[in-house]
Amino acid sequence: MYRSKIVMHEPAWKKAGFADEKSYAAALLKILKKRYAKQLKTSLGHSSAFELLVATILSAQAQDAQVNRITPRLFKAYSTIKDFADSKPSQLYKYVKSIGLYRSKAKNIVLSARIIMEKFGGKVPSSMEELTELPGVGRKTANVVLSNAFRVNHGIAIDTHCITVSNRLGLAHTTDPAKIEERLMPLFPRKEWGNVSHMLIALGRDTCTAKAKYCERCVLKRMCPSSTYRAESGKGAPHV
Ligand code: SF4
Repeated sequence: MYRSKIVMHEPAWKKAGFADEKSYAAALLKILKKRYAKQLKTSLGHSSAFELLVATILSAQAQDAQVNRITPRLFKAYSTIKDFADSKPSQLYKYVKSIGLYRSKAKNIVLSARIIMEKFGGKVPSSMEELTELPGVGRKTANVVLSNAFRVNHGIAIDTHCITVSNRLGLAHTTDPAKIEERLMPLFPRKEWGNVSHMLIALGRDTCTAKAKYCERCVLKRMCPSSTYRAESGKGAPHV
């Protein structure tokens, strides 16, 4: 009779020599906050909550740097929410056409502006429930806007870098952003949720990329369960 084989992995926190997962998460937070102290904010250029909303909608499946190249011209031509609400999506094309999915993104931006004008009195709403009513705005976009524009930590914005890094660190074992967010929230203090997203993104951009991991230069190389540093060097130094 066939029996499925269940492989039990040693938890990352145990492997790294910590007493429990929260202590492991606290150590990660301390090290990464120090390493990426200058990157604990969104890299999307904006000067208002609405501009951040627009930039975040445009950044889906695109790099922040690409978005930052086009938004200054866009925000100069459309300086208020009403300007966007009064326009047609096709009028935005010339500003956003270098970004993937620009037609649907332009449509979502204009429709969101109209809803904000009509339903929210011309102000970007500051709750998860209201923000996710806007077209093109899911939990990730809403979390970015809440955390960076309103300093509200409702959840943790999980992007592609967060998915890669949290799996390599053994904090999650899934690629589902909603499940990763659920896993991370109880592990970190609420006041740090915005920073958790920023620091995982920063690590995923420069050291722990989807294509390659540069463990030898990573600040977590001695405690990360996916580190190649220990295997190659034979050095094991669990605690920080
Ligand atoms: S040690 Fe390696 S695998 Fe672990 S977070 Fe750093 S770069 Fe990624």
